[in-house]
Amino acid sequence: MTPWRPSSAEWLSEPDRAPDAAPMTHRMRCETCGRRSPTHVVFGVVQDWQVRHTAHFPDHRRFSETLTRPWRTVRGQVR
Ligand SMILES: [Zn+2]
Repeated sequence: MTPWRPSSAEWLSEPDRAPDAAPMTHRMRCETCGRRSPTHVVFGVVQDWQVRHTAHFPDHRRFSETLTRPWRTVRGQVR
């Protein structure tokens, strides 16, 4: 991903890939009733929740995913 320089010549914004960074997580929300899956680092886990939810409520078929990705700012030059 290319670093973005929004407004400062000194600071850059980039995904935080450091070993101690928080993991990227996923969560699914049913658009019909608002119920939400657990937050999990494995997308397949929230997809399992999604299909089980539809199995219990067959007319609940639209969902939205919330993805949380850690970001950081760093000093430096765009390469
Ligand atoms: Zn639902």
